Amino acid sequence: MSRILVYVATHEGRIRRASLEVLSHARLLAVASGRRVDAVLIDEDPSRFVEQVSLYGPSRIFKVAHPLFRTHLNAPLIAALHTAATVAGPSICAMASTESVKDVLGALAVRWDAAALPDVSTFSLEGDGVEVLRPVMAAKQFARVHSASPRVLVSVRSGSFDAVESPSAPEIVEVPFEFNGSDLGLVLKDIVKATGLTVDLSEARVVVAAGRGVKDAEGKRLVDDLAALFNGAVGASRAVVESGLFPATTQIGQTGKVVSPDLYFAVGISGAIQHVAGMVNSRVIVAINKDADAPIFKVATYGLVGDLYRILPPLITALKAAKAGA
Ligand code: FAD
Repeated sequence: MSRILVYVATHEGRIRRASLEVLSHARLLAVASGRRVDAVLIDEDPSRFVEQVSLYGPSRIFKVAHPLFRTHLNAPLIAALHTAATVAGPSICAMASTESVKDVLGALAVRWDAAALPDVSTFSLEGDGVEVLRPVMAAKQFARVHSASPRVLVSVRSGSFDAVESPSAPEIVEVPFEFNGSDLGLVLKDIVKATGLTVDLSEARVVVAAGRGVKDAEGKRLVDDLAALFNGAVGASRAVVESGLFPATTQIGQTGKVVSPDLYFAVGISGAIQHVAGMVNSRVIVAINKDADAPIFKVATYGLVGDLYRILPPLITALKAAKAGA
């Protein structure tokens, strides 16, 4: 087992933060075990990201370029990852567990003839194999899984590691890649985005999430204002998505998005396990709830017991004043 290849995902001209977390962790594992870590960039113009990826210490950066990578499409991404893995020859291929990766991991495992360990919270090298911890039962338990397969694919939840710079002067390798767009059998005409969602939930450093305690437009405005102060994203529990107050794209939890920001505000959210499964990896959790016995306080770093309609206005005013003074 000599090399680890990390897929550094890009989206709308930016590197996915979680990819750099995986690359940093893979580099630490490689250094500790005398292995090398490589990175692969798959984009319409991967060269624009080389400098940033070099800051995270790969020995080689593989570039796969094609106009089709302007947006996500499963078939070319699977083909590109398979080509890169074949050229780079790693025994482990690691990547952030993004929506795109969730779509392609199984097919890639079949094509590359590898074991797949999806959506893990950490991975390590044990003997000749790979060992992972995988959250199960809505993140209430962790399964420890070991693979001794000669090829292993690992996808990692965002926020599991720190992205730590360790600059290198990597060898840059252009990977020849052909893909006939007409083989797709489909044409991507447009990506329709929900209006008002300015910050990507899964990448946001601060998330303000609303639950059933947020009852009306006034409560929604308070949540929006708090999020805007941090340039953060707005999330929601299933209860307020089902009521129609928040769009489905904001749902966090077992059947929604998994987020791991530096700061998570749970506003009027009880803390059902299906919700907690999607946010428990957040670094600092601030819960605002009028019920002191609400389960959310069991996972909260800080708890504010009281009516959100009375807590949020002075909190927002004080934060605005602090920002203005800074
Ligand atoms: P509630 O549980 O009703 O809690 C509202 C909270 O607001 C209470 O704690 C209350 O004390 C507090 N409150 C009320 N008024 C105020 C006020 N004025 N000020 C302060 N606090 C106030 N849920 C998800 O969120 N995401 C999922 O992905 C998800 N997937 C699910 C999958 C399955 C298979 C199932 C069965 C359920 C799933 N759920 C999911 C639903 C989940 O079980 C809960 O029902 C839901 O999370 C509850 O949302 P809530 O906390 O907003 O509402």
